[in-house]
Amino acid sequence: MQTDSKAVINNYHDLVIIGGGPVGMALALALHDSKISVTLLEARGLPEKTEDTRPLALSHSSRLILQRLGVWDELPGVTPITTIHISNRGGFGRTLLTAHDVNVPALGYVVNHHDLFRSLHKRLRGSGVNYLTEAQVTHLETTAENGRVEFQHTGVLKQAIARLLVLADGGCLATQIEGVTQYTQDYKQWAIVTHIKASLPQCGRAYERFTPDGPVALLPMGKYFALVWTVSSSVAQEIINLDDTTFLTRLYEHFGDRLGKFIGVGKRSSFPLILKYVTPITAQRIALIGNAAQTLHPVAGQGFNLGLRDAWELANEIIVEPVKMGTPAMLSKYNHKRQVDRRAGRIFTDSLVKIFSNDIPGLRSMRGIGLSVLDCMPLIKRSVTRRMIFGTKS
Ligand SMILES: Cc1cc2nc3c(=O)[nH]c(=O)nc-3n(C[C@H](O)[C@H](O)[C@H](O)COP(=O)(O)OP(=O)(O)OC[C@H]3O[C@@H](n4cnc5c(N)ncnc54)[C@H](O)[C@@H]3O)c2cc1C
Repeated sequence: MQTDSKAVINNYHDLVIIGGGPVGMALALALHDSKISVTLLEARGLPEKTEDTRPLALSHSSRLILQRLGVWDELPGVTPITTIHISNRGGFGRTLLTAHDVNVPALGYVVNHHDLFRSLHKRLRGSGVNYLTEAQVTHLETTAENGRVEFQHTGVLKQAIARLLVLADGGCLATQIEGVTQYTQDYKQWAIVTHIKASLPQCGRAYERFTPDGPVALLPMGKYFALVWTVSSSVAQEIINLDDTTFLTRLYEHFGDRLGKFIGVGKRSSFPLILKYVTPITAQRIALIGNAAQTLHPVAGQGFNLGLRDAWELANEIIVEPVKMGTPAMLSKYNHKRQVDRRAGRIFTDSLVKIFSNDIPGLRSMRGIGLSVLDCMPLIKRSVTRRMIFGTKS
């Protein structure tokens, strides 16, 4: 492509990260005190003002990474999960996963997406990383030596050149990359997210209840619960628009009475659910991380945890041999290292959705048997729990 005459040559960098979501910011922070010059380009103007109330269940291994990034201690409102109760609506069988079984202080921690986002943002602002907001990347291209991006920044078209481009943009630009194939599957489901007050207090227990329409999760959050209710696309809008009392009644009918009555509900938001992933996660002078590499169904809360491990592994690969940054050998190593964890995370969540989101009678009993068997087999249960906490490095 010809260089646009309006494009201003910015300067040369070791690394340009496209997308300052939580995963892109985590990568920038992981590299900030190395000698590598990093530029982070984020399209939004005031990203720290974004209100996103989706709850994120962070695994124990994400806590360890966020601690090393200096973010964990700044996070407000972290609520530990000590037990996960998994059940199957309309069938027998349930299982309990506990922190005690795997010798960790908590199975995970629930935080608000925007609290995590703001803590990362604050830390990044004070880190010396070249962090540009209102910087929308419109084009990227690479040669064997480097990558070049064009971006609109405060109304001016600019460009940046780097030895490695990292796509952390949630998946928008992947189709511009040669040699990378993107797979997409629409689950035809939406997640409705809000806060719920129940008549019984929260005591560190998270509930994952599978129903033919999709899973419903109630996660402990502060004194209340964070709800992630999966519904089919055809009824999503109707449920979002219900008045509070009718909404709580519908939820109670759907979830059952394990938490007593539902007596309060916060502001609702909703997200369409898809499975999207690319393969491979590298191309000439390019690496993909986070949702740009794989966007998963929120069942079992794997997406950000997996994305954070992408960022962490990529940072390690860069720090170990900075001179090799962006070379085919380095990229192939990163691609290879992430393969098993990514595939396992994708297959795990996709299978949960497919096996549990239906009402086929034979499958219903099999699910019940599966949950009961899991409950009686401590070794398998321990292995499943460790997988959820640590990924494939469990
Ligand atoms: C309802 C719900 C519940 C979830 N719960 C959990 C959970 O419990 N645990 C968990 O681990 N995960 C969970 N997830 C998944 C998690 O939210 C995502 O995996 C995570 O937020 C992805 O972060 P990211 O930084 O990769 O991408 P994004 O958050 O999508 O960030 C991408 C960034 O790139 C910017 N951008 C886009 N295009 C450009 C461009 N052209 N130029 C510059 N910047 C650009 C965007 O503005 C954005 O800031 C959940 C998801 C949903 C929908």
